[in-house]
Amino acid sequence: MTESTMRVINPATGENIEEIPISSREEVDAAIERARGGFREWQGFAGLDRAEVLHEISARMREHADELAKVMTLEGGKPYIENHDEVGWTAACFDYYGEIARDSVGYLPAPIEPQQLALVVKEPVGVVACIVPWNFPLLLAAWKVAPALAAGNSVLLKPSEETPLATRRMIELMGSLPDGVLQGVYGAGNVGDALVRHPGVDMVAFTGSQTTGQKVAHVAADRLIRVNLELGGKDPFIICDDVDIDIAAQGAVWAACLNAGQVCTSSERFYVMSEVADDFVEASRSFVESLNIGDPMDRSTDIGPMINGPGREKVERHVGEALEKGAKLVAGGERYGERGFFYKPTILTGVTPSMTVMRDETFGPVVPVVEVGSLDEAIEQANSVPYGLGANVYTQDFEKMLKCMRELKAGTVWINDPLTDNDAAPFGGQNGSGIGRELGREGLEAFRESKHVHIDPKVEKKEWWYPYGPDDESGQRTM
Ligand code: NAD
Repeated sequence: MTESTMRVINPATGENIEEIPISSREEVDAAIERARGGFREWQGFAGLDRAEVLHEISARMREHADELAKVMTLEGGKPYIENHDEVGWTAACFDYYGEIARDSVGYLPAPIEPQQLALVVKEPVGVVACIVPWNFPLLLAAWKVAPALAAGNSVLLKPSEETPLATRRMIELMGSLPDGVLQGVYGAGNVGDALVRHPGVDMVAFTGSQTTGQKVAHVAADRLIRVNLELGGKDPFIICDDVDIDIAAQGAVWAACLNAGQVCTSSERFYVMSEVADDFVEASRSFVESLNIGDPMDRSTDIGPMINGPGREKVERHVGEALEKGAKLVAGGERYGERGFFYKPTILTGVTPSMTVMRDETFGPVVPVVEVGSLDEAIEQANSVPYGLGANVYTQDFEKMLKCMRELKAGTVWINDPLTDNDAAPFGGQNGSGIGRELGREGLEAFRESKHVHIDPKVEKKEWWYPYGPDDESGQRTM
């Protein structure tokens, strides 16, 4: 590897897949210049024409779903089945924004005088830098790129240095866009930072960790540019005593272990009513032990490797510290296999709020279980960390559903159906989990400027202009 290239590693084997060039400063400058040219052309497209291009992109993605899923599996380690689903969701996101963006490009507020016309016109922001992590490379790119393009912006997309290959292929498949409208920029954090600082970038849409998000926000604040931040989480999962505990345990384990626990909305803290806590732990243990860990390319694999050594070491630190402080290991708690970055699904009981595994994002397949005496206690503990991305609840009691809906501090509350996304509904974090929303109408608005246009068809002197003094003998103004 030279200073101008980066290695892409297969996390299931630790082997090198490919070495690819890092975008140089000159290449970033040139890309931004091309993006400016592309923007001038693309913003002039009619809504229907833009929609057609986005539908074409979606169709190309579906045609190449197997190929894209294989590349994502090789570079990211997520099981093939999950990656294949991801390509389908990515395509659906392009279809959705192709349609809703042409539905409306503004609205008419009531004017302040009867003869006037007030318009609010929605315009693209300009050149948008989209910076994404490695855990859902295509989907998280689509949540930004699709609405940004649908709104008429041009885009520079920087994938994570861990997973650039599927993104590079996706961009190749988007050849129906005019030149410069979507380009890839490759490299690690320094390349992302250069993009955020570049005077040719008008907006940044970022998904990644809280720490990096803060850095991006500082630079964006100095430059006074628009920024959307989708950051980490520490999602709680509440299990009430009125549900089938086997099903709740399977939902809980899936929500904690999907993509080896490396989902921003992975459930990382489990609050279980004490009446059913022992049954829940036992059902979770038996389910976890039935899962297939192994080659993510294998269609029967449930759990693949973690992304890299540092990611796995962080999980080991969190679990190790919890055990040192008195937590009990019910399952897992160790590496799996001779090569790659596998870690066994792990269940802990006896955890306390001060343990790191209950406070900081673990981002690994860990199920820490806390017994609680009431729903109030569960909600209070659920809301006790400086994150607020998602929250899950299992209950059949409608009053409890409403209470959780109202009182949980989270951007998404899932009741009895963990971790499902909906293109048509906003996604994002409260508290320290982000600023702004992706998906839904909010996700399109994020990439649009509002311009108020105020038209008075009559050219006449207005009564509120100068002079302010009385202009007849009675002391009254005449207009
Ligand atoms: P990360 O913050 O390390 O990196 C994210 C991206 O930012 C990468 O492309 C990286 O190269 C780039 N980057 C790094 N430093 C930068 C800088 N100074 N300026 C600009 N760009 C920079 O995150 P990661 O390890 O790739 O991903 C895992 C994190 O992402 C977790 O915290 C997870 O919760 C979060 N995440 C959030 C969401 C969400 O929608 N809220 C979704 C997925 C992942």
